[in-house]
Amino acid sequence: MKQVAFFIFVLSHLANQVLGAFGGSHIHVKADTLAASKIFINTAFENASPMNWHIDSAGRVIGQMVYDHERFSPNRAVNHYHFRVEAAVGTEVTVILENFDNIWNGRLASDLSEKSRYVVSFDNKKWESRSVVPLPGRRVFIKFKMEAPQAYIASVEPYRISDLNKMLARIKQHKLASVTTIGKTSEGRSLEIVRIGNENAPKRLFLRARAHAFEAGGNWTVEGLVQKLLSNDDDAKRYLKTYCVYILPMANKDGVARGKTRFNANGYDLNRKWDVPADSLIAPENYYLEQWLHRMVKANKRPDLALDIHNDAGGYLHISRPDGDISAYLSNMEKLEMLLRKHTWFTAGSTKPSFRNPGTLGEGFMERFGIHAAVYELNYEWIAGLNKAPLAEDWVSLGQNLGEVFYNYFKGN
Ligand SMILES: [Zn+2]
Repeated sequence: MKQVAFFIFVLSHLANQVLGAFGGSHIHVKADTLAASKIFINTAFENASPMNWHIDSAGRVIGQMVYDHERFSPNRAVNHYHFRVEAAVGTEVTVILENFDNIWNGRLASDLSEKSRYVVSFDNKKWESRSVVPLPGRRVFIKFKMEAPQAYIASVEPYRISDLNKMLARIKQHKLASVTTIGKTSEGRSLEIVRIGNENAPKRLFLRARAHAFEAGGNWTVEGLVQKLLSNDDDAKRYLKTYCVYILPMANKDGVARGKTRFNANGYDLNRKWDVPADSLIAPENYYLEQWLHRMVKANKRPDLALDIHNDAGGYLHISRPDGDISAYLSNMEKLEMLLRKHTWFTAGSTKPSFRNPGTLGEGFMERFGIHAAVYELNYEWIAGLNKAPLAEDWVSLGQNLGEVFYNYFKGN
């Protein structure tokens, strides 16, 4: 034991000397914490986010997430964090995450909202939403007590590839449904399109979720809709007489696997550049979706409505506004918004006529494929209609009610 203690002493001494040599460094590591830390941050699991961390002299965890960079652009993003704290039960843990200096459309993003939340789980099953304290300089302060030897901390309730695989396994057993692999992601993961319902139903709906890796809300919403449609109850039967649903449930699988925020493995934003055909090498996730869409159009099965489901801090339905006569589309979107308000907890409304975001899936599907399409954002900080912070169950309930929304949307169209 004496030898170990001596070794630690030498290590500490060396560390002090090294740190002394970098006297100007802003990170001051008190030497004794090098040996004495009782908190470990584990990121070696599915969807965990890459990060650097250390314990400061006050025993706090200081973390810096790794930015997700857009290819050939100044843009970078850190929204997602997902890590596991390992420490003794009862330990008071303080975490300061330091670097939310996101660059968005070439500009530094605004400060973190007072409404910022995080989710915590002590069993990796049941999650609870809690407030973070935004600190000056785009940092967040999280404090909690260990209720188990492990605490999972995340920006939103995670939905992982393993969750998707469970859903796909359930779908495959169902007579009314199928799972088709349409291609591979940049890193070689399979991209699936799920079909639920009869291919010859009068109307067709297409949904995409998780183009941006942190936005798990879209996956939970799809989960709810799929549950409802496969429930075989009277409502589900009525819906599926009217429409067939096609879903690309997790477009950015590589980003989800690696716990990243936004871009695909090549730094490509899967909700941009939809005004031109996607590059098969840089953006295979979009390329294979386009190929599938071309096949659908050729087979006379063009979707009648398409929604790309996202998470942001606004929660709007983003109406596409390409050039030309879009009056029929606009009146359909008005109907969709009204039905969302009527049948779900949606209250946010839609974007104003002055807002246009060319290159999104909503715009590209409209302009290039003649499909009525929109980007549907889910507010990940607060659900005004429920007066609460969102958890998976709230998005699942939204998805369950979307079945009725689409039924009424298509009825009489
Ligand atoms: Zn998004």
